[in-house]
Amino acid sequence: MALLSILRYPDPRLHTVARPVQAVDARIRDLVADMLDTMYDAQGIGLAATQINVHERVVVIDVSEDRNQPLVLINPAIEWASTERVKGEEGCLSVPGIYDGVERAVAVRVNALDGEGRSRTIEAEGMLAVCIQHEMDHLMGKVFVEYLSPLKRNRIKSKLLKQLREERA
Ligand code: ZN
Repeated sequence: MALLSILRYPDPRLHTVARPVQAVDARIRDLVADMLDTMYDAQGIGLAATQINVHERVVVIDVSEDRNQPLVLINPAIEWASTERVKGEEGCLSVPGIYDGVERAVAVRVNALDGEGRSRTIEAEGMLAVCIQHEMDHLMGKVFVEYLSPLKRNRIKSKLLKQLREERA
């Protein structure tokens, strides 16, 4: 088991756009295993490779109550998103302690490779749909606080930078 360190906002590396995975080989399977360990250890429901400073299109998710239903999305692509949208509270392992409302599509259909490299289509709604959209934003270099007003975002930035300074002191 390997725990990876998670980049924290406003780390500029979180704005890197990830490139597609060329082949689901041993290196990618190791990456997925480490990302799952890291996500479970941090008690998150999703983690994008971007957040651990690997800029390839890999996402792991588990929204199950028992934390035993890992979902691996490699090279995910949204095929369809509902026009119906809902605003819900979101948090992020890269923005610790901050929760705020973000509007997302209620349902999405996503095509992706799984951890074995098999193509699959996932229909998601509710928390899973929100989580998929949140993690796919990370792969595009976008953090959820960028949906908030500049005022709120700057407040969050200062708060997190202050936390970092205190931790390093
Ligand atoms: Zn996040």
